[in-house]
Amino acid sequence: MTIEHYENTPVADTLEARNLASAMTRGARSLCPACGEAPLFESGLQVNSQCGHCDEELLHHRADDFPAYLNIFIVGHVVVAAMMIAYQWQLMNMWTLMVVTIVASILISVLAMRPLKGMVVGAQWALRMHGFGGHDEQD
Ligand SMILES: [Zn+2]
Repeated sequence: MTIEHYENTPVADTLEARNLASAMTRGARSLCPACGEAPLFESGLQVNSQCGHCDEELLHHRADDFPAYLNIFIVGHVVVAAMMIAYQWQLMNMWTLMVVTIVASILISVLAMRPLKGMVVGAQWALRMHGFGGHDEQD
């Protein structure tokens, strides 16, 4: 390996691998993906800038809209499938079905948002994406 090749190796490739499943599970439980001890979220969907237990910097995450896309994908498949089954088997009248569908969509969306965002942040941390690899975004 020449020095030139070494200089072009991304920093993330020279660091030890992180457990993706463990980090995503911790994130889904709203815990720090690094240690699993301290809360990941400051309030609502606001991620803590630093872990209160292991001091891991969590401000590097770039979850953006991805958790919301996952949420729409999951809710769409679960609620629409259940709605179609209920409609096909005539389990309830149209008005009841409409109300149940709307309430279920809102409830599942709200309840799934935090675990999904935690999973995305955990995956980004484990894969050393963005600033989690010990380098700036521009490197
Ligand atoms: Zn931690």
